[in-house]
Amino acid sequence: MTARIIDGRAFAATVRERVAQHVSLLKQEHGVTPGLAVVLVGEDPASQVYVRSKGKQTVDVGMNSYEHRLAADTTETELLGLIQQLNVDPAVHGILVQLPLPAHLNEALVINAIDAAKDVDGFHISNVGRLATGQKAMVPCTPLGCLMMLREYCGDLSGLNAVVIGRSNIVGKPMAQLLLKDSCTVTVAHSRTRNLPEVLKGADIIVAAVGRPGFVLGEWIKPGATVIDVGINRIEQGDAKARLVGDVDFDSAREIAGAITPVPGGVGPMTIACLLANTVTACCRAHALPEPVGLVA
Ligand code: NAD
Repeated sequence: MTARIIDGRAFAATVRERVAQHVSLLKQEHGVTPGLAVVLVGEDPASQVYVRSKGKQTVDVGMNSYEHRLAADTTETELLGLIQQLNVDPAVHGILVQLPLPAHLNEALVINAIDAAKDVDGFHISNVGRLATGQKAMVPCTPLGCLMMLREYCGDLSGLNAVVIGRSNIVGKPMAQLLLKDSCTVTVAHSRTRNLPEVLKGADIIVAAVGRPGFVLGEWIKPGATVIDVGINRIEQGDAKARLVGDVDFDSAREIAGAITPVPGGVGPMTIACLLANTVTACCRAHALPEPVGLVA
């Protein structure tokens, strides 16, 4: 069996199209334009690329983008002052502080200073708690993208066995909560898990978020399982351009799985698409308007 390839680029384009349609409706029928503010502290090259891409895609779907680039030596007081300003700005519906922050800034303090209703990354402690208790929350973008793809490719997830490999706050834990909310039987594996191949044996769904190239082997996968590879690992190739690979050994896995996301072109493109989706959702909630269908968890 050769797995169906889950095309994240095409799926992300569909999500952006749905976001753009909803933005257009909000503008025409309610005179509201969703706005996303992105705050970047310092000059980390990867973060600069992400912020540029987020700003461009925000504008492309018809929303307002507000970029705040601060010097690497910005103080916590200055950063918190800006967040406070954005919290009360009615034109801003989503606030994202690009991580990682320079070491002298307390990440948890900064994230929890964002108005939870505008926390489009879903990292605020009250959104984490809301998700865990089944209440309406802003949901972290990467796991939200994974969930959307799983729903699309598997249909009803109820009763399926899902194994999430990785327990980080940004991917593993919220992914497990989302799968649980969709009535999967969820196992979370991590660095101390014993005999991972045995744990994976009964998994209808595998979500790998480990950060180790080619870690999950095809022979560990149950035939026909759906495999979502979150990992992004750079393989340096001397003078040639670095290659990106996932946490799953794609060549062996595609022979066993029923469906699989490639790297690149799988989960990655969905993350920014879901950030746009979260911004529209936050805008609708702020104005007590109906939320977009198919773009929320
Ligand atoms: P992390 O380092 O915070 O967490 C890695 C997790 O893997 C940990 O919970 C750890 O317990 C687990 N782990 C480590 N070794 C293991 C082992 N031998 N067996 C089982 N579990 C093990 O990483 P993260 O932030 O969750 O990211 C994971 C990967 O996903 C990285 O490659 C990252 O670049 C990628 N990522 C991609 C996107 C995207 O948009 N596609 C977004 C976020 C992260």
